[in-house]
This record gives sequence, structure tokens and C-alpha cells, in this order.
Amino acid sequence: MPDSSAQADLLLVNANVLTMDPARPRARSVAIAGGRIIALDPGPADLRAREVADLAGATVLPGFHDAHNHMAWFGLTLSEADLRPTVTRTLADLYAAVTRQAGATAEGDWVIGAGYDQNKLGAHPDRDGLDRAAPGRRVWLRHTSGHMCVVSSAVLADLGLANRAVDVPGGKVVTDAAGRPTGLLQETAQELVADLVRPYPVPVLAEAIDRAGAQYLSEGITSVTEAGIGGGWIGHTPVELAAYQAARDRGQLRVRVELMVVSDVLHPLAADPGDGIELGLDLGIRTGFGDDWLRIGAMKIFTDGSLVGRTAAMHDDYAGPPGNRGYLQADEAELTGTIIAAHRSGWQVAAHAIGDRAIDLALDAYAEAQRRYPRADTRHRIEHFALSRPDQVQRAAELGVIAVPQGRFASELGNGMLAAIAPARHDWLYRQQSLLAAGLTLPGSSDRPVVTGAPLLGVHDMVNRRTAAGEPFNPGEAITAEQALRAYTSGSAYASHAEHRQGMITPGKLADLVVLSEDPTAVSPDRIASLSVLATLVDGEARFDATGRLA
Ligand SMILES: [Zn+2]
Repeated sequence: MPDSSAQADLLLVNANVLTMDPARPRARSVAIAGGRIIALDPGPADLRAREVADLAGATVLPGFHDAHNHMAWFGLTLSEADLRPTVTRTLADLYAAVTRQAGATAEGDWVIGAGYDQNKLGAHPDRDGLDRAAPGRRVWLRHTSGHMCVVSSAVLADLGLANRAVDVPGGKVVTDAAGRPTGLLQETAQELVADLVRPYPVPVLAEAIDRAGAQYLSEGITSVTEAGIGGGWIGHTPVELAAYQAARDRGQLRVRVELMVVSDVLHPLAADPGDGIELGLDLGIRTGFGDDWLRIGAMKIFTDGSLVGRTAAMHDDYAGPPGNRGYLQADEAELTGTIIAAHRSGWQVAAHAIGDRAIDLALDAYAEAQRRYPRADTRHRIEHFALSRPDQVQRAAELGVIAVPQGRFASELGNGMLAAIAPARHDWLYRQQSLLAAGLTLPGSSDRPVVTGAPLLGVHDMVNRRTAAGEPFNPGEAITAEQALRAYTSGSAYASHAEHRQGMITPGKLADLVVLSEDPTAVSPDRIASLSVLATLVDGEARFDATGRLA
């Protein structure tokens, strides 16, 4: 307990505090000083407080931590035209949205939109429609799946595709009956456009990071793990870390960020052979470098593709035409070699692995890495861990590997996932309960902007496990609201090697807190998504406050 001279900057009283600390799960008040929690339930004689906030019974939790999201990408989508079917219902609506977006964008800048679905619109938009909606402009509209896009004639001209298509391995420049490109580019053909847009300028990304952070705070998020910067299809510029540093310098970094580095960016280093550093970033920068606000996280490596797109690597056929088992993103030996080299060089590794075949590859690589170069407390991760056999869950637990599934996928992508997998294996999909039962720590994450990312929606789906159509989604893996909240707080902190400073409300931890209208563990499960975030504190200061009591 604090001594009698203790002084708090802020004392939150009359609160329902869920600490997430099993040793002391509940409290009524929290004292904060110097950006840290200094006491729970202090008596009047224990400390004086400069400011006291009466929360009128509201629920206080550790700030949410999204363990897998794409922050700059999400921030960029916030300034693009929103073409999701809920917003844009017809092709006419879509073209009108393009015209509005063009009007709101400086002449010469790209007019960008995302989220359209031709199944709902009746057809894909085409270049002629885009040229009428935004004459002469470079227009780029991404499909909701991320697997295709449509561009205007100005973009096709930049690519030399105004009047003729070219062959693109792994993709397609779609043409009409006369052989004229329609503007639709599929799969790898999209890279042609991305290469025109990248690298994004640092100030543009810093603005995107700012916009994303503002939304995160309004949803109770105080920490995020950004799941891939610097390279690959997911990176925005080779100097992506500089964008986060610039955001911080300008006061635009609103939440704590841990940055995963895409494996392509790591390269051989001419270190002394005795150092065992085979692979890394210049100067030997690796996982853990940085501070409480901005830090380098794991190396992110893609081992396979998408479940709904039916490209992820499986041992058995997908539903539908026989013979499709997806594929690995690269040669098996090459992927394994990169994982082992990164492990040896001191990196935490986060392998994107969706199918059970890809999960086997990641687990085998982690086991072999540990056998050859034993290292304590590596906490290597498998991102998504989408379709896993029971023995893979056990093996992950034995190896201390953290599975990072996305609870939100159940509702937004659940129907597509159930359709892609034979019913006999539905109970292998996006496990949660069996991970906890095996003794694994479960983080909470969204993969935003792939799906809507508010943590309360995530908690809702982790508990309710229903698809958008209302179908149960592998309901045996449902967990309690308490377990889901633990995932989004202490679970995510553990996956980031950050549990000593965040993820629980205990003295000494960073004062990152979220204040909710009601207690998610006390309301009926179907109401969790409708609770509101009243305030969000980072470093003990209210960065979002709908109550007016904390600012
Ligand atoms: Zn992701």
C-alpha cells in the first residue's frame, strides 16, 4: 500500500473495476500517478488525489490491445470512398460516390474507394463508368475481398493497358469481347496498380495513422500490434517505421504501437559469426527495440493465403470441385529456412498460417529452430491458426507457440468459411476454447481493416460465435465474456512480451484504461456489442471522453 504521503494525479472512484488480475479480480477505485497505476481501493488516509472522478458505477478495464491489425492501411481506408454494400447499394450509387470523392480530392491525386461487391451491385463497375464519374482522373476501386480491383482509363494508360491486355502470371487483365481492357484487374494484376501508388509519402501515412488512432481511442483501444510493415503486398513504403516516428513527433501517434516487420525486409548481416545473427535489419535492430509507445515486434512471414479465397494450404480438399487444397506462398524449405534464421538471430516470429498444412509447416519450423538454437521465452506466433487439428493445438501448447485467431471473423466471414470447408472439419475452425483448455494464452485481435475492428464487437463474436446469417459458427469453441476480455487485454500483452507493463490493472502498470457503460460479463451475451465506450485513458490521461467527467 502507498505510504501516507502518496499523491495521486487522478483517483477514479465509484467504479466497477475488472482488473484482469486473477489474484485480485475486482476493485472500486483506481489511483493513478505519473501515468501509472499506483493503488487499488486506497483508503482516505492512504493518499491524497489532485483530481477525483466519480464514474457512477461504470465499468473500468485495462485498455484494449488489438494483437493483429493493419493501422496505416485502416487509416488510409478512412479517407477513401466507402463502397461497402451497406453504404453503396447500386452501381449508380457507386459512381455518385466516385464523383463526390473526386470533388474532395486534389486535382492530380488518386480517387480511391474500397469495399464494393459485384454480387450485390449486379456487375463490376467499369472504366467507362469511372471516366464519366470522374473525367480524366486516376480512379482505383478495390473489391471487398481484396482479390480484385477496377481502375479508370487514366490508370490503364499509365500501365500501357489502355487498348490491350498483357499476360500477368497469377492474375488477369480482364477484357471485353473486342479485347479492350474493362478496368477490372484480378489477383496479382492488382500489383501493377499498387506499384504506381507505392511508396506512399511519409506525411500521408502519418495522417492515416492519426485518423486510425482517433477511431481506436473511441473504441477503447490503447495498444495495437501492426501485422506487417516495410515490404510485401502489405507494406506501404520501405521507410514505414519513419511514418510512425513522424506521427509520434507530430503528436499523431495516439495509441501504443508494436510493428511487425515483413520477412522480405530482413536481410543477411555481416556480423561476427559467433553472434549468430544471420538475418535482420541494419544495425542489428530486432524484436523488442523501442519503448512503451513505439516498438519493433515480430518478423511477419506469410506461409499461405486466404480461407474464404480457398488458397490457404490444406491437407484435404476444399468443398466444391475436388483437387483444390490451396498452396504455400513459397517453397517449403525456403519458408522454414527463413523462420529458423530469424529465430536464431533473436527475432520473435509471427507466421501467417491458415490451413492445417501451413500450420504444420510453422510448427515444424519452430520445433526445428528450438532444437538447433535453443532460446528461452520466444513466444513465436501463428497468425489466424484458422483450421487446426486437435494434435496441432497440443503441439502449439508444448512448443509455447501463441495462436492468434480473430474472433470477429465468425460473423463477417463465417458463412464463407463454413462453405469452404467440409462439415466434418467445421469444429477445427477458429478455435478459442480448446486453445485455452490446452493451456495456451489467447490474444484478442481483428485483422482490421479486413473486418470491422471494434474490440467490443470482437468480444461479442468470441462469446456468441454466430455468422452474419445467424448460423452457429463452430459453437463448441465459444468462450465467456470474461475470457474474451482477458484475451483483448492481458492475452494480447503476453503475445507482445508486454505483460509486465500492461494488460492488467495492478499497481506499477501503465495507466491505460477503458471505461464502459456496462459490465460485459454481467449483461446478456447478445447485448455485448451494444455497450458503449465512455472514456479511454492512455498514460493516465483521458484521450477520449464521452462523459465530460475526465477531461
Ligand atoms: Zn492481417
